[in-house]
Amino acid sequence: MDLFQKCYDFTRADEVKASGFYPYFRAIEANEGPVVQIEGKKVIMAGSNNYLGLTSHPHVVEAAIKAVEKYGTGCSGSRYLTGTLDLHEELEARLAKFFNREAVLLFSTGYQTAQGIIPTLVGRNEYVISDRDNHACIVAGTMITKGILGNLVRYRHNNMDDLEKVISKISKDAPKLIVSDGVFSTGGEIVDLPRMNEIAKANNARIMIDDAHAVGVIGKGGRGTASEFDLDNEIDLSMGTFSKTFSSLGGYVAGPERVINFIKHFSPALIFSASPTPASVASAIAALDILEKEPERVQRLLDNAAYMRKGLKDKGFNVIDGRTGIVPVIVGNDEIAFKMWRLLYDGGVFVNVFISPGVPEGRQMMRTSYMATHEKEHLDEIIRIFEETGKQVGLI
Ligand code: PMP
Repeated sequence: MDLFQKCYDFTRADEVKASGFYPYFRAIEANEGPVVQIEGKKVIMAGSNNYLGLTSHPHVVEAAIKAVEKYGTGCSGSRYLTGTLDLHEELEARLAKFFNREAVLLFSTGYQTAQGIIPTLVGRNEYVISDRDNHACIVAGTMITKGILGNLVRYRHNNMDDLEKVISKISKDAPKLIVSDGVFSTGGEIVDLPRMNEIAKANNARIMIDDAHAVGVIGKGGRGTASEFDLDNEIDLSMGTFSKTFSSLGGYVAGPERVINFIKHFSPALIFSASPTPASVASAIAALDILEKEPERVQRLLDNAAYMRKGLKDKGFNVIDGRTGIVPVIVGNDEIAFKMWRLLYDGGVFVNVFISPGVPEGRQMMRTSYMATHEKEHLDEIIRIFEETGKQVGLI
């Protein structure tokens, strides 16, 4: 059998494309934030992670342009060698201050951050303990850990009783890292951090939280999950991304200086990959300026998401409850999901479609997410189009 046979046999995407319902890889031709242009048509964006709407903010755009003018377009090297700019150090220092942590280290993406940290910290005969619904980059990190003879244990999604059960079976002395999304990227729910912290402390475990969907969304001034629960000084490592609230590209980890220093010298994902571009770093610094100066944007995002949660629920949709920027609408099967996506898109609203096996059967969803810069008219229009299409597919 030829290695590539499976590629030729994979035709599901072509079939969905031929039916006109394919929702993925749609090219955006212009981006104003709440409204984008796709195939020459304006649509309201209800699926982006541009939570504070900063990707087109003049201060952010100007910072990116100035950085390109000063430093050029790329760093052409890893942080370890020729790829460290004073800009990288500035952003690390700014984030350390913002999160009130000893040190911060930048990575080139959020994905690389989790994938690069977990196997660096958790090696042979040590344990990584991971939520079953953690983001793919955490899963990637845990799989590498497993490959280097570390132990991988998983617990039921955000279920602290199950975490306690699995951890109690491991020797107290064994070094352990509990890893979880802070805000889960599919359902938008917040990790039960207070309980997790108690379990960790009682079982000689360290905690790492992936705050990709939490920073700029929850916590004081948008400082993320630990801050949300007043546990800033209790959680060992927090990581995140610049591709959402920070309107850029890159990742970071914040924690004790000695641990960050170790990751800096041992993580292959950092050492063997080029550092974030000048424009990426400068725009993240500029986004942080705005987050610090205008924390009311965080409240606006949450108000918008709450308005949508209620609005869609009132129309009869099965909406997963929550208090983050993510508002998932369960539709129940792949066929309705694709159909609904197409009708929404034709009606003028863009959402993300999650089908199985990405989500369990029955949990197929229109995963909507909001920005601080959505106006009420945008939100009302999204609700109107949802209502119209929900009726068409027989969901409401
Ligand atoms: N963690 C979570 C929870 C995410 O949702 C994402 C992005 N979808 C990432 C990490 C990866 O971040 P990045 O886009 O910077 O690679």
